[in-house]
Amino acid sequence: MRGTGRTVLLIVLDGAADRPASELDGQTPLEAAETPQLDRLASAGISGLMDVGRPGTPLSSDRAHAILFGYDLTEIPGRGVLEARGFDLPIPEDSCVCSASFARIETAIRGWTITDRKVKTAREDCERAAARVDRFEHCGIDVSFTYTWKNRGIVALESDTQPLSAAVTDADPFETGLPIVRPQALEDVENPPAAKETADALEAYVRWSIEQLTEMPVDVVLTKWAGERTSPRSFRKRHGMSARMLTPKPVLQGLGRTLGMAVDGVGSSYTARVDRTLETLESDAFVNLHFPEPDEVAHAHPPSAKRDELETIDAAIEPIVERARSDSDLVVAVTADHTTPSRGDVVHSGEPVPLVIHGETVRTDEVRTIGERPASTGGLGQLRGRDLMYVLRARADRMLLDGLRRAPDVPDYPTKEITPLDRER
Ligand SMILES: [Zn+2]
Repeated sequence: MRGTGRTVLLIVLDGAADRPASELDGQTPLEAAETPQLDRLASAGISGLMDVGRPGTPLSSDRAHAILFGYDLTEIPGRGVLEARGFDLPIPEDSCVCSASFARIETAIRGWTITDRKVKTAREDCERAAARVDRFEHCGIDVSFTYTWKNRGIVALESDTQPLSAAVTDADPFETGLPIVRPQALEDVENPPAAKETADALEAYVRWSIEQLTEMPVDVVLTKWAGERTSPRSFRKRHGMSARMLTPKPVLQGLGRTLGMAVDGVGSSYTARVDRTLETLESDAFVNLHFPEPDEVAHAHPPSAKRDELETIDAAIEPIVERARSDSDLVVAVTADHTTPSRGDVVHSGEPVPLVIHGETVRTDEVRTIGERPASTGGLGQLRGRDLMYVLRARADRMLLDGLRRAPDVPDYPTKEITPLDRER
């Protein structure tokens, strides 16, 4: 249901923002890429930079997307829950759910050192390993492991007798060559005893997994990103718009489901993804089209590969740009969720990302191309990610005059579907 106002299409080029690269003559991959389609949007639209989170914070994709959708991170469950939802796993009430992965380790003077965090082994090997570590019990807490994909799974903790808490450290330090981290309760939390019991159960489980996985192609289950169920207001009730997300990434599919969005688990074909996007613009008021590929390429290849990938995406979205240029009822925004440096060891980094907004209601500026440098001179200035949805709703005429309240569920939405005062009580 599109409802009142224009349709909003938010295209997220995951991790597309980058740092200048000497092999690209000091340009970033996005600046160096030949992107005639994105340049058309920038040229006819307005540009700016955006600090998605607190300036300088290197965000993960799930947290960055939650902020871009207008949510505070305190409303969003830990990533363990989002990943589990991405694989359609149930999240029992009062459970604690962690993301987990198989890793290789070697014994060290104290503890174990992680030698391979991204074990590339056959699915059958992982399924055999999973069968060895799928059920465990510690002091009234049941721990289960469910295999999902690659070398990954979900570890869920449940207890009838013991309150649990996700306020615990990760066993996975997210870096090869470091020791396994002992799961510990975080300090300064709501329920210290629950966090302590949860951490103790996770510690016992990680130790037990090492015993169970002897003579296997993987040595240990590492847990991270513990989460508990939360009840965020749905996207529809926050913004007054029916919403759909098109992404191949399970964790983002899980975020979409958590926010009550329709979710299309699209495949790797860019053409199919773009075609599906054009279809959904007929029925949904807000559509999020996600390209995880720039981030993935940046993690594995030099800056020139990311430049090339961005050129491929640019060519693929031509039908969307054509549609944007001819459809006065469509507002299109293009941005990245975070910066992913394609050189160096950091996972993501905290520089602001470029943002372009195109639509009939959008003021224009002098920017003619997409990129970090051009965006820094754009008419939007520097936005915060948490404001993006309101900026887009404004361009789509989906914001009511501030202070007015027309409907109880989304008071700031200019709905025409009014509950009338009946002539008769
Ligand atoms: Zn990302």
